Amino acid sequence: MRKDYFRDLWTFIAPGRALRPFDPDSVCASDSTGCFFCPGNENTTPPEIDRVAKNGSWQVRVFPNKFPITGGEDISENGWKTASSQGHHEVIVETPDHNQRLSQVTQDEMVLTLNAYRDRIKALETDANVGYVSVFKNQGREAGASLDHSHTQVLAVSQVPALIREKADHSHKGNCIYCKIAGSEAHSPRLVFENENFAAFCPFAPQFTHELWIVAKDHMRTLDELSEGAMADLASIMLKSLNAVEKLSPNYNMMVYYGPRGTDFHFHIEIVPRIPHQVKAGFEIGTDYAVITTPPEETAAFLRG
Ligand SMILES: [Zn+2]
Ligand SMILES: [Zn+2]
Repeated sequence: MRKDYFRDLWTFIAPGRALRPFDPDSVCASDSTGCFFCPGNENTTPPEIDRVAKNGSWQVRVFPNKFPITGGEDISENGWKTASSQGHHEVIVETPDHNQRLSQVTQDEMVLTLNAYRDRIKALETDANVGYVSVFKNQGREAGASLDHSHTQVLAVSQVPALIREKADHSHKGNCIYCKIAGSEAHSPRLVFENENFAAFCPFAPQFTHELWIVAKDHMRTLDELSEGAMADLASIMLKSLNAVEKLSPNYNMMVYYGPRGTDFHFHIEIVPRIPHQVKAGFEIGTDYAVITTPPEETAAFLRG
């Protein structure tokens, strides 16, 4: 990993990623014959790490990514700073059905996927060389997915990213901005859904048009601290949120945020629908400011349906 000359920004150089397969347009969602993630093709993935068995096959399957972002060389030059690119890059296939989206699984099946998120974070954190485990989903080509079969990626990296450190710095129990946000947004025009344990809302100042956050109402560091009831609530609000977001766009990014070892944190998830022609352009790149075209209050009203 190479560090920016002076900013706390890091870059993985991963030329192996360029070799990864893309489903050609002719082999789209309707055709599972050549799919690496479909049942029957398990021998085309690296050796399995975990599975949730079902009916002699599986419902959820975990294995290393064949084309990892981690593992590249770290060549230092001229005193510019580098850090270890070693880590773990895994895939969680959330459904055996090639044509099923994550928004279409049952609540019990969603719990199985969330359990897999929890278990992989826990397992990878036992590696002393792992600083942070990023769990994220790219749904659709416009969101960066290279294969159509629904899946989540798990990327364990050597450092705690600056973004996560900044979030953790504001998440001290008793003086936590997310506790305040969850309490406040549950009574704002930006609220979309809520249940006993979670609130889903459009943030006050979104970075992307139609952005949606799911925040735990109680202060908790990670998925491992969720009771069975809270996990069911999270699965329920995830399904509602994904279905609502898909009314805006079939393409989205979903990021799971938890507190790495030794930090306090407030667990939350962010979902960013990818809208065509809405890219970060010159002004946004040149200033780090965001420009969005729909007020979050209007998006929230639409998502509430
Ligand atoms: Zn498939
Ligand atoms: Zn909190």
